[in-house]
Amino acid sequence: MIDLTGKAAVVTGSSRGIGAAVARRLAEAGADLVINHSRKESRDEAEAVAESISAQTERSRVIISQADVSQAEEAQNLIRSCLHEFESIDILVNNAGITRDRLLIRMKEEDWHETLRVNLGGTFNCSKAAVRTMMKQRSGRIINLSSIIGLIGNAGQANYAASKSGIVGFTKSLAREVAGRNITVNAVAPGFIATEMTAEMPEKIKEEMLSRVPLKRAGEAEEVADAILFLASEGAAYITGEVLKVTGGLGM
Ligand code: NAP
Repeated sequence: MIDLTGKAAVVTGSSRGIGAAVARRLAEAGADLVINHSRKESRDEAEAVAESISAQTERSRVIISQADVSQAEEAQNLIRSCLHEFESIDILVNNAGITRDRLLIRMKEEDWHETLRVNLGGTFNCSKAAVRTMMKQRSGRIINLSSIIGLIGNAGQANYAASKSGIVGFTKSLAREVAGRNITVNAVAPGFIATEMTAEMPEKIKEEMLSRVPLKRAGEAEEVADAILFLASEGAAYITGEVLKVTGGLGM
């Protein structure tokens, strides 16, 4: 049984989807949680996640912090809210992500920049804000959401693939920088997971993608959360700089 009692965790983009499932898993293991979302419209969803955690377990405390992780100052405030409330930051899950899919010939500059700003820039901003405290603590876990698309590419997702590939290079470099302070930095690369992000994809592309999954089904957010819970646990203490694929075999 994984026990994270006394650990404080920030999960970016945890008002729904994979982030919400990760928040629930970490809380079930006893961690205190900062739930994060960027839009006002997601407040109700974030509150529902926080309420379900409180109803599920009395062990973990939970707060909500609205912040757009692509903005350095907001990312700093997000990490500060964790330090202020729980007096440490032990686990950071850089999960917030967006897609702005288009073939390159039709991709607007803003589609490119916004995707890079949120996915890669948000990971940089939050990691930078958290790592100083983790270095002082001489412990910490950073887990970044990459994607199978960052490893194999996908037509119509050059911006997203570049951001997720960038996260792999970022993860390995930071892992090397902070290993001496007992901080591990890993990435998880999900395949096709049933969330709002993939619900928006055209049916034909979804079918085509699923036909390539050896396990012949979409993954559940909870299945990605289980991998992240493991990387946050004591059992993963000797794993750093890795990319763990959760793809039903799509990425083998
Ligand atoms: P989702 O259902 O669209 O949820 C995205 C979450 O991120 C929401 O809570 C959203 O809240 C938040 N968010 C978006 N922009 C943000 C920003 N600038 N600052 C803070 N929060 C922000 O996505 P998902 O499918 O769960 O994906 C989660 C992560 O897994 C992403 O990094 C994604 O790239 C990665 N991933 C997903 C799949 C998949 O198949 N679903 C596969 C591989 C990788 P707001 O709406 O309030 O902004």
